[in-house]
Amino acid sequence: MSNPHVLILGAPGAGKGTQSRRLVEHFGVEHVTTGDALRANKQMDISHLDLAYDTPGEYMDAGELVPDEVVNEIVKTALEDADGYVLDGYPRNESQTEYLDSITDLDAVLYLDVEEEELVRRLTGRRVCENCGATYHVDFNPPEEPGVCDECGGDLYQREDDTEETARERIQVYEENTAPVVEYFRDAGVLVEIDGEQTPDEVWEDIRDALE
Ligand code: ADP
Ligand code: AMP
Repeated sequence: MSNPHVLILGAPGAGKGTQSRRLVEHFGVEHVTTGDALRANKQMDISHLDLAYDTPGEYMDAGELVPDEVVNEIVKTALEDADGYVLDGYPRNESQTEYLDSITDLDAVLYLDVEEEELVRRLTGRRVCENCGATYHVDFNPPEEPGVCDECGGDLYQREDDTEETARERIQVYEENTAPVVEYFRDAGVLVEIDGEQTPDEVWEDIRDALE
């Protein structure tokens, strides 16, 4: 597949970011991730929308969804600029799904299936490189030297929303808002379901088989 448009779905901690990096390397596509884009804009002033909070960061720290107006705009610009892409973290509700449908076509929709307690273990042990964004896990995928990125030597940090309490809140928000998105693509007959509880290499093998 050349310049594929791939959507990767799954709960927080399912391994979307981990597998997206492999898709980027293998297919030369762009990684479009609303979570990273929003983290880079946590302090953006959105008070003109007159909603519950005045910045994306306040929604994120509470584990809630950032308003559609903000996220849709980010995705539109990113997809316009990308040749092929893997889209990660979007859509997260029905209205975002409709919006995505109006701006692009998808070649494949992957779903990484992981049960809740495993998600919590993955999220609370996650460490991210502040320089290149590589993701580690203190037990499941530790760096050679604690706190240091194997790939670029950058410092690793723990995301503010990766506490157990916020992780559980995010999984709850996922169940309420995003699980129906998975059902939508399943009903449309285009969902490729992958057992996300295998090792990262095994998950990647299934993804490659599905796409090639
Ligand atoms: P997501 O982007 O879906 O939130 P990540 O890719 O960031 O998830 O993975 C969440 C955590 O789980 C990270 O610490 C990552 O290293 C770890 N992880 C990812 N895939 C696996 C896997 N197949 N088995 C065990 N741990 C994994
Ligand atoms: P993630 O990095 O995908 O785990 O996302 C981190 C946080 O960013 C989420 O808990 C939300 O607060 C926010 N976020 C990311 N993507 C979206 C989206 N598509 N819609 C609304 N909020 C989002």
